[in-house]
Amino acid sequence: MRTSRPLLPGLIEACHAVIVSNADHLGELDRAIGDGDHGTNMKRGSEAVYAERDQLGGLPLPEALEKIGMVLVTTIGGAAGPLYGTLLIEMGRGLRAAGSGDGVLAETLPPAVAAVARRGRAQAGDKTLLDVLYAVQQAVLKQSPPAEVAAYAMSAATDTIAMKALRGRASFLGDRSIGHMDPGACSCALLTGSICRFLEEFPSA
Ligand SMILES: [Mg+2]
Repeated sequence: MRTSRPLLPGLIEACHAVIVSNADHLGELDRAIGDGDHGTNMKRGSEAVYAERDQLGGLPLPEALEKIGMVLVTTIGGAAGPLYGTLLIEMGRGLRAAGSGDGVLAETLPPAVAAVARRGRAQAGDKTLLDVLYAVQQAVLKQSPPAEVAAYAMSAATDTIAMKALRGRASFLGDRSIGHMDPGACSCALLTGSICRFLEEFPSA
């Protein structure tokens, strides 16, 4: 059933809620293998986007995604800001280039994820949020239902526990990074889960 809540502000609220309620957990994960700032960084970025949700909801989707991406780059900071920012900016650009139509948003995902990989100079298995993005991309492209996309994302984040970090601050720990979930992979899976739960209530979106 379609609710009266507009799609984009609703999605922003859902993402904000999951980041705020998990900020401490993300900080703990980052304290184990990094500098401990991922929770506060993500919360700061999330709050900046949340504060602009109504204006963002009034923009065409490509512009809104690019704007959110730029806000994330400037407010999250750390390693994650440019990665999340690149993802959304590239999705916005892809969407504008492709025009409207069913499934177009899903098609923007592979080039946007590839841009994130270039930006982070990372690949699959490096124990970063890319491990989750690749899983999400794969699930979205085979048109898995939202609950399944969310499950793939969390499973990919869980898989980072056994990995040795090859990019980012955690890579300085070498083998000692094994046994901890990557904080970026965790935030990415949490956001994916929140977005998927929200979209399940928006069947026509
Ligand atoms: Mg950090």
